Amino acid sequence: MPEYRKDIILDEWVIISTERAKRPENFREDKIKIPVTDAGVCPFDKGNESMTPPEILRINKEGIITDKNDANWQMRVVPNKFPALTPAAEPMSKNYGIYTSMDGFGLHEVVIHSPEHITNISRLDIRQIKMLLDVYARRIRDIKTSTKIESVTLMLNQGKDAGASIEHSHSQIFGLPLIPPVLEKEIYGTARYFKRTKKCAMCAIIEFELAEDKRVVYKNDDFIIIQPYASRNPFETWIVPKAHEANFENIEDGRILNFADCLKKVVDFFYFELGGASFNYYIHTGPLHLEEFNLHYHWNFELIPKLSIKAGFEVATGIDICITTPEYTAEFMKSGGRFA
Ligand SMILES: [Zn+2]
Ligand SMILES: [Zn+2]
Repeated sequence: MPEYRKDIILDEWVIISTERAKRPENFREDKIKIPVTDAGVCPFDKGNESMTPPEILRINKEGIITDKNDANWQMRVVPNKFPALTPAAEPMSKNYGIYTSMDGFGLHEVVIHSPEHITNISRLDIRQIKMLLDVYARRIRDIKTSTKIESVTLMLNQGKDAGASIEHSHSQIFGLPLIPPVLEKEIYGTARYFKRTKKCAMCAIIEFELAEDKRVVYKNDDFIIIQPYASRNPFETWIVPKAHEANFENIEDGRILNFADCLKKVVDFFYFELGGASFNYYIHTGPLHLEEFNLHYHWNFELIPKLSIKAGFEVATGIDICITTPEYTAEFMKSGGRFA
């Protein structure tokens, strides 16, 4: 029977309805063709560094910051050549009749994951994924020094169906002068939960999920991987730090490795067991200059595979229908032995 479930982080309902579902193992059959090489010239490949705008950061194979002349690089961070927002604007709000506007101020950076032309993040080994998470934390800390930026959104579009326009593996960082609606909803949702229970909603989720052990896919000393109770999408996956903290960017070295351990396992699962399905991932980290949220906000990392299409009902109501149960997908993920 279909069921309404409440997401206690966002404080909103979703519908879990398996009536129209394929069995989870059938997602495997939706093999999405994985391009092996690109015939054209790729601006992110080694040797084509001059095709990107002047770089912000270069990391060598050992994960150490290096200079622009070091040909032995592993990752580069550059401004987006076609930015959605510009640092040249001023984030001042203006009135236009009954409306409000603001010049399109913001930072839009690209993290190039590898000098080789790889098209899936699962091609990175765990050491390189740790390096990538280090780059994320470093860039957020740096962006945070700007008083004009209120929040940082960090995401990956893996595959065409997830919106990737350049197939060379890369992620994007946005520094915004405002708090985007999803983060704002998480903050208000968790604030309401905290007011009612005197507890952080995510800490409560971790405690309950570990005790019940129905939707936990994997855990190490510092992180757990779960299929969320009020899942919006088949195989929606959360990686959550066990320690209560509002901001990802303060994470220390030892815990980054345990985060990388989780992320590597999930991206390998998507690549090898879900036929290289396209997916988005993103970090929700607390707003940059507002310490008042530290009590109830708990940073988190979400991966959303593109396995089902949102239709009119979702668009009309804002209520997502998930065609698999998170209990079933958790079982399925564990059964393959990748999360042992
Ligand atoms: Zn390339
Ligand atoms: Zn917490």
